Amino acid sequence: MTQSTGRERIGFIGLGAMGRPMASNLQRKGNDLVVYDLNREAVDALVALGARAAGSVAELAREVDIVVTMLPDSPDVEAVVLAPDGIAAAGAEDLLVMDMSTIEPSATDRLAAALADRSMAFVDAPVGRLVSHAEKGESLFMVGATSNDFGRVRPLLEAMGTTIQHCGNPGSGIRTKLVNNFIAIATCQLTAEAMTLAESFGLDLSTTLDTVNGTTATNGHLQTAWRGKVLAGDTAPGFRIRLAHKDISLAVEAARQAGVPVFVGAAARECLGQAMRTGDFAERDFSALLDVVCQQSGIAAPRL
Ligand code: NAD
Repeated sequence: MTQSTGRERIGFIGLGAMGRPMASNLQRKGNDLVVYDLNREAVDALVALGARAAGSVAELAREVDIVVTMLPDSPDVEAVVLAPDGIAAAGAEDLLVMDMSTIEPSATDRLAAALADRSMAFVDAPVGRLVSHAEKGESLFMVGATSNDFGRVRPLLEAMGTTIQHCGNPGSGIRTKLVNNFIAIATCQLTAEAMTLAESFGLDLSTTLDTVNGTTATNGHLQTAWRGKVLAGDTAPGFRIRLAHKDISLAVEAARQAGVPVFVGAAARECLGQAMRTGDFAERDFSALLDVVCQQSGIAAPRL
């Protein structure tokens, strides 16, 4: 049985692009890991660092106090945890499963409930940032855990990353991750459209980047503007929704003329157009788009 002095024994399942550097950092920082992956080469790389290879998921679960899973998708995690020969069936009471994969929140809830039925603990701790950060031990983690379980996993997270956000109880980590990725991925498409538009205008790329990096264009809304405006209950303009609609219409029309498809930009223009026809939003600050979407969703607008 693997022992790590004064620490909980840790198993790691899923040694892919993210899991391998994360597990490597855990191993290098003094945890004697037991590891498992379908890919033998990935296992061998961890064994070379001193980890022990388990012959199966069940064997690993029997030997450790905490199992970390870093697998592709919901069915993979559910199979590894809930199958008849999976973690839940093989592990002891008080075993803690920390799933760090990005999966469906409903699957996360099912895992938490199934493990609780067996007096086992569950933490969801999906990962922000890139493989390059994982390699340097500089990941960000969004953690859903009870305070007690957060205390148990904290030393592991500190060995793998630099920023640890305790988002709330189990299930809140994965939901925070989806909100994060929704912004990151939608703005990636929007940025691709904007940069193509800049190229079609014949603009100098470097100057364009320096310029947009100095305004709210790079999502300064969340970093600075929204905290002092809509999230503080202040929707006085500012930059009016009416003028924001005019500006995005100018850009979408210029893109049309240049033959640049701007799907996200066009959708945003329609949303702004609809906001202008709702109450007195046309004359409110453009951060009040938050209040429009909340109104459309029947959700009370959040305030800090
Ligand atoms: P990956 O495909 O590189 O690695 C998955 C690993 O799981 C593979 O080594 C595979 O062999 C193993 N595996 C699959 N099924 C298994 C099973 N039943 N038993 C044992 N091992 C099994 O994926 P990744 O890029 O490391 O991503 C893992 C998770 O992290 C995903 O949910 C992904 O969305 C998320 N994520 C990825 C990144 C990234 O930049 N790659 C960043 C943040 C979060």
